[in-house]
Amino acid sequence: MNEMTVAAAQGCIVDAVRQLGSESVALQRALGRVLAEEVQANRDQPPYDVSAMDGFALRSADVANAPAVLEVIEDIKAGEMPRNTLAAGQCARIMTGAPVPAGADAVIRVEDTQALADSRVQIKCSVKPGNDIRVRGESMSDGATVLKCGSEITPGVVGLLAMVKRAAVQVYRQPSVAILSTGDELEGLDEPFDANKIPDANSYALMAQVQALGIEPVLLGIARDQPEALRAALQQGLQHDVLLVSGGTSVGVHDYVRPTLEALGVQMKFWGVAMKPGHPMTFGVAPLTWVFGLPGNPVSSMVCFEQFVLPALRCIMGHRRLYRRTVTARLAHQIKHRPGRSEFIRVTLDRDADGYIAISTGAQGSGMLSSMAQADGLLVVAAGSEGLAANSSVTVQLLEGTAFQAHHGMP
Ligand code: AMP
Ligand code: MG
Repeated sequence: MNEMTVAAAQGCIVDAVRQLGSESVALQRALGRVLAEEVQANRDQPPYDVSAMDGFALRSADVANAPAVLEVIEDIKAGEMPRNTLAAGQCARIMTGAPVPAGADAVIRVEDTQALADSRVQIKCSVKPGNDIRVRGESMSDGATVLKCGSEITPGVVGLLAMVKRAAVQVYRQPSVAILSTGDELEGLDEPFDANKIPDANSYALMAQVQALGIEPVLLGIARDQPEALRAALQQGLQHDVLLVSGGTSVGVHDYVRPTLEALGVQMKFWGVAMKPGHPMTFGVAPLTWVFGLPGNPVSSMVCFEQFVLPALRCIMGHRRLYRRTVTARLAHQIKHRPGRSEFIRVTLDRDADGYIAISTGAQGSGMLSSMAQADGLLVVAAGSEGLAANSSVTVQLLEGTAFQAHHGMP
């Protein structure tokens, strides 16, 4: 199998995954999920013409030659219906959200009026018909589609769903995600300290990356580099919708992950991506499971998650925007690069009047998790680049936040 470009590998993965059906969730638990149904308005909103201001409902013709003095015939509060129809020379004191009385065709805000004795008010300026009136059905009309299938449930969407009285909604099912670390040298978080071992960081970094997408993964622990132990652990992982295996995917003589997956019937789609870090990344498809073989080096594993697992999980969850949002930044210093592989440089982002400034987090070794811990983003160096000069314009994938985009942003 040939080494693939990052974009081609992303395309292969996104083509291979799909949504997993839908389930009903309470509105209180719906944030971050994706609608698997279209939602319609169940009434006109507002239900009648209402005032947009605290002020006076009046007949615009009466104040065409303002200032003018009008008789105040009633007070209308939000939630009350007007009792009278306005005749010439009359107005009603009205609160924001209260129904506009029959006969009135405009509202004037209280700031443009002056109360007088004997239930009279001076209107200081003229208003056009319709002024400060929200007309019936202006924000939604009964039966109209207010949300399309595939909409991400943001706080604004939650508000809209409450507005149409949806206590529960149909959303795409979340995948169950299993995480397995492999390696004889690894020491689990709750195992006794041994200075000769390597703490299993990947299980937890990957766990957190999955959690950040709103999914609670299952940690399968550490499988040792023995075919039988690995086989048993991978079999357990294949009970889940998505399996993330880190380590053992390279070409070392004890890298059993790929052959064992193949022996378990996983159809490997590719091995090796033209990227740094993250080269020995692999992806396969089993009857029930999408399998990602991630490199063992902690930074490589996290960078591969960002490029490949994140868009896959978002696609399975029903999202249309699969990729991290990218921003354009100015490079604070030069970056050397030999043409061949796409490179992802951990950077912090600063800002001045001209926009973002990208600054390398320092040493970029694929085992140096501190570079990942400090990073605001991943600067993308195109595979063909011959290096980037200080002050040149670069693309940075943001590592934080809930904003995503439809395009992968690979140059
Ligand atoms: P591998 O891909 O198995 O050849 O591992 C590459 C490097 O990553 C080795 O130095 C491993 O010790 C290290 N490594 C593998 N898995 C983990 C892990 N779960 N946590 C931290 N380091 C790891
Ligand atoms: Mg290993």
